[in-house]
Amino acid sequence: MNTPYFDAEHREVRARVRAALARVVLPNAEAWEASGHIPIEGWRALGREGLLGFGHAGSAFLESAILLEELGRTGYAGIRASVGVHAYMALSYLELFGTAEQRDAYLPGARRGERILALAITEAHAGSDLRHLQTRAEPVDDGYRVSGEKHYVTNGSQADVFVTVVRSGDKPAGKGLTGASLLLIDAKSPGVTRSPMPLACYRSADVCQVTFDGVFVPANRLIGRKERALMHLMHALDFERLCAGLLAVGGVGHCLDLLDRFVREHQIKDAPLAANQAVRHRLSEHDADFELVRHYAYHAAWLHARGELDTRTASIVKLKATELAVTAAQTCLQYHGARGYLAGAAPARIYRDAMAGTIAAGASELMRDMIFETNGHQP
Ligand SMILES: Cc1cc2nc3c(=O)[nH]c(=O)nc-3n(C[C@H](O)[C@H](O)[C@H](O)COP(=O)(O)OP(=O)(O)OC[C@H]3O[C@@H](n4cnc5c(N)ncnc54)[C@H](O)[C@@H]3O)c2cc1C
Repeated sequence: MNTPYFDAEHREVRARVRAALARVVLPNAEAWEASGHIPIEGWRALGREGLLGFGHAGSAFLESAILLEELGRTGYAGIRASVGVHAYMALSYLELFGTAEQRDAYLPGARRGERILALAITEAHAGSDLRHLQTRAEPVDDGYRVSGEKHYVTNGSQADVFVTVVRSGDKPAGKGLTGASLLLIDAKSPGVTRSPMPLACYRSADVCQVTFDGVFVPANRLIGRKERALMHLMHALDFERLCAGLLAVGGVGHCLDLLDRFVREHQIKDAPLAANQAVRHRLSEHDADFELVRHYAYHAAWLHARGELDTRTASIVKLKATELAVTAAQTCLQYHGARGYLAGAAPARIYRDAMAGTIAAGASELMRDMIFETNGHQP
């Protein structure tokens, strides 16, 4: 495919990444779905293949964009979410705001797949609206005591460390995010418990509830500036949305490949399903939307590489890629007929996963709100 954003070297990277994922992920994906997580040997293999070490910033991010799309192309949203949260969404807080000491302590192990990262933001009453965040960090000698409960934490049972948003100032829940801070909380600290929160979808994403009960966190585990989590989140969440969008682009590509193969092979009335014009046209619509979305996603990745990604662009990529994943998954399931609904069938998994893509990393409605708020129709 020809695009100004990727050159011949990028095409080689894509081929290398795709081959590595075929070696490390695809033969194990069903087992990881069944066990609900990527096992530590899986993480190490991803690390050995260099799949956890692509850059977050500058032109190196274009290689990350390729990796994220190819992770989506594996067809397993649980796996893509696990790797995306570990190597991008959680890790970005260290990349962007971590001290040299924190980066030295965590990044090399994370890149090798020896230290797994998770992101603990959401709570029972604080998802789209984080003003109601209740997890508290009380200042004590040399650090904080953290108490609270985080929900839907991807990589929850396997994580070595949680990048956690806590309320550290005087403002009570419901009064905005001013006074919130980011802490790195060691998963082995006394007072941390985690219990599986299995979802109907994203089965290998290891989604857990994580409870902090008076957990001591040393002062040097504060990420970025004290009580400035809001400012840090605004920056990191744009990056998260871009990554989620790129992952979803790959997911749509996988879904449309499967669908295309099926309608060309499956016979109805002694002809392939694709002989029916209504079928061909429906697939063509998805295909055209896919080309538009993925080229816009590449453009957004290029903007990020130049340090110019903005909230509006990131929100559009996240919204459009995840919403297209839903409509494509519906078509995929419909044209596969009952065989697509078999519990272990790929179309059923793709459909389940697609429905959560419009919620994870920010619900579609939130993306629409942000697109509306930034609507300037600049020439
Ligand atoms: C697969 C998966 C993985 C996840 N991983 C993590 C993780 O690793 N770490 C973490 O902290 N969280 C994680 N989450 C949680 C995720 O961030 C939240 O689900 C998301 O922010 C939405 O919050 P909520 O589910 O509480 O829904 P709510 O905020 O309660 O919203 C419910 C619904 O209301 C609608 N809605 C919301 N806002 C508006 C609005 N402004 N206008 C109109 N309608 C609106 C939307 O349809 C939304 O789905 C994960 C979620 C999923 C599904």
